[in-house]
Amino acid sequence: MDIDLEIFSPVHQINDKLFDEQGLKVFIKRDDLIHPIISGNKWRKLKYLLKKAQAENKTRLVTFGGAYSNHLLATAAAAAKFGFKATGIVRGEPVENDTLFLCRLHGMDLIFADRESYRDKPALFDKYFADDNEAFFIHEGGASPEAVNGCSELVDELAEAYDHIFCAAGTGTMAAGIINGIYNHQLPTVVHVVPVLKNGGFMAEEISKFLTAPVDHQLHTGYHFGGYGKVNDDLIAFVKKFIAATGILIDPIYTGKMLYAIYDLAAKNYFKPGSSILAIHSGGIWGLLGMKEKF
Ligand SMILES: *Cc1c(COP(=O)(O)O)cnc(C)c1O
Repeated sequence: MDIDLEIFSPVHQINDKLFDEQGLKVFIKRDDLIHPIISGNKWRKLKYLLKKAQAENKTRLVTFGGAYSNHLLATAAAAAKFGFKATGIVRGEPVENDTLFLCRLHGMDLIFADRESYRDKPALFDKYFADDNEAFFIHEGGASPEAVNGCSELVDELAEAYDHIFCAAGTGTMAAGIINGIYNHQLPTVVHVVPVLKNGGFMAEEISKFLTAPVDHQLHTGYHFGGYGKVNDDLIAFVKKFIAATGILIDPIYTGKMLYAIYDLAAKNYFKPGSSILAIHSGGIWGLLGMKEKF
């Protein structure tokens, strides 16, 4: 079976009084529309890993994530679509939630691992699959050179050059792919990376590991809102307002924080008037399921 999805990821303009006042044109690339479940950067990150698994005659994908992991869910759906079996090794005590329900619905087997043993993923893989030649290890979040290459294809799809591109970062894999893509096409675009975790400075090194050339990029480490999965009233209010004003569903974990950064920087006169900005909607709207009580 050919492992591919037809990419539907149009670019839409975001209209806002703030952007008019600042003389900015702001757009959003709708990677969230690539697939309802295998959405956003999760498809881009999985594509070449799945092709590799197929080339190696592997029949089972084994990967890792928290109980609300977009990556687990995307892997479950991609496995179902492309004819793999799948096992998700989930961090923490056994629980049931909406994300894991959807994982199981797509046929993924779930194994829960306590936080201590979860740290050593190769050991966990060996514990359950050492004798299984058809099991294929995929790192948490899919972080890998294959994933970086998949993400750089996002840049191949752009019909025009923007002054700035913004993306959220968890591991920095997607950011590295975008930076490589900008380099491949020799675009004058500045890539802005918004880490969604605390102390995001480490991201610079993570990203640099995957770069084909040492291209300059901007890291905005002040928009983590307390850490991964953490939110405050301000962020939730922003996300609600954005969704209601644009009809574009976003999550407060990744895309919400990245867009908040753009609005905040614009309000602080960060951008030169006349600049064009492209935000990457990296998907992950199912992350809202774990956040309902915050709204
Ligand atoms: C996983 C994820 C990210 C983070 O991607 P990295 O490559 O790990 O930096 C960003 N946005 C969404 C919606 C995600 O699900």
